[in-house]
Amino acid sequence: MSSLPAALIQSLQNLKGFDEEAFKAVHQSGGQITSVRLNPGKLKIENSQQGPAEKLKIEGAVPWSSNGYYLQERPSFTLDPLFHAGAYYVQEASSMFLEEALKQTVDLTKPVKILDLCAAPGGKSTLIQSLISADSLLVSNEVIKTRVNILAENITKWGAANVIVTNNDPKDFQRLQNYFDVIVVDAPCSGSGLFRKDPNAINEWSENNVSLCAHRQQRIIADIILSLKDGGVLIYSTCSYSKAEDEEIADWLTGELKVESVQLKVEESWGIVETISDKSGSFGYRFYPDKVKGEGFFMAAFKKPESLVAITEGKSHPSATLRKKVKNKQVFTVNEIEAVKPFLVNADSYFFIKQHEAVIAMPLYLENDLTIIQSALYIKKAGVRLGTIIRNELIPAHDLAVSNIIDPSIPKLDVDTETALQYLRKVDITIESVIKGWVLITHQDLPIGWIKILANRANNYYPAAWRILNK
Ligand code: SAM
Repeated sequence: MSSLPAALIQSLQNLKGFDEEAFKAVHQSGGQITSVRLNPGKLKIENSQQGPAEKLKIEGAVPWSSNGYYLQERPSFTLDPLFHAGAYYVQEASSMFLEEALKQTVDLTKPVKILDLCAAPGGKSTLIQSLISADSLLVSNEVIKTRVNILAENITKWGAANVIVTNNDPKDFQRLQNYFDVIVVDAPCSGSGLFRKDPNAINEWSENNVSLCAHRQQRIIADIILSLKDGGVLIYSTCSYSKAEDEEIADWLTGELKVESVQLKVEESWGIVETISDKSGSFGYRFYPDKVKGEGFFMAAFKKPESLVAITEGKSHPSATLRKKVKNKQVFTVNEIEAVKPFLVNADSYFFIKQHEAVIAMPLYLENDLTIIQSALYIKKAGVRLGTIIRNELIPAHDLAVSNIIDPSIPKLDVDTETALQYLRKVDITIESVIKGWVLITHQDLPIGWIKILANRANNYYPAAWRILNK
């Protein structure tokens, strides 16, 4: 491993919790930690030591997460059908602290609107989705077009209907003034916190890049602060150790944007270091890999005061104006609705829209919000894509197969690992079944996709773009 940048080590010298010797030793050790977060929408967490999660060889729980677990070793996730079923997300353990930050600052029993601004590939978004109530909304945004596909894929596998994936620049969110209860900014950063995981990143690090990142972080937050409700919560995080991207951003936030720092409770045994920023005394939470079982990370929570007249004055884009611009919804025939309903559990709790030929389902209580977001942002994906209706018959979409809204009485065929992998490679599989028509292929009872069983063969409907390529 290349040695850590001297300028970085120098800049950390006086920071609370920084122990140069232990910090260098943990980077030199080459030790790797693998952790996953189980999907409570799909797996029963009390069964984490048995059943579907057993194969993962769980070593122990991530202390600040209710669904996060360390693994004894890193398996080939690609060769685990449950990974493709969205049963869990492979996530670095420190990042899971977002759960604590949200639980301690937001009443998650109530419906909330949350924006995850820098969301790809979807680690924080899938975590947020597992925490919010069914009548809450998560807007999961990624500005970079090439990264939004993997975000949409991970959200699809997670299976929930109360998520909208958007592909917008932070400044576009100014059209949604005073709209979100919570905004999570997991900012692009200089990445020093991931040096142990990715030693090649060491050569990319420079003081100049830290400074560029710090300016970009300020710009991003300044762009979206208008869309946070008065009284709303802002969670800011980076995977950088640099004060310029962490505590100094907290100082800038409280100084320039007048948000208030929120102190979080952390158990001493977790090894997380609470820092207090120089200028404003804002609280920050540092994760050093020699103190926690996880990678380098920083998180801070803020509250927007009830009234921030100085900043928001004159920049209003009320949602009501936006609503008027939306075209009338497409109308479905009774037969079309009847074709869709048998596939859904609680079908009456959704509304349906057509996007090109596809039918999408979203929870009824999000109808207004979809209209508002549609008029302000570019939507990559909303709710659950159910499929296409042809001659009053639904050709079901993959999204429906892996969603949590599918009717549990849909015919299923549970297959072993080898057959599941053949299916995921999009190879034809041999099925002996008396059932005909659309059937869900499941592995350990979790759906991985559709097949259509005909008189003498079964057609594999796994999405070609997602098929696994290794043998
Ligand atoms: N939250 C993600 C997760 O947990 O899986 C990781 C996010 S990563 C740290 C930062 C993200 O910010 C990247 O996906 C990157 O494409 C995006 N990004 C880059 N430049 C940005 C900008 N100017 N504004 C907003 N997001 C940006």
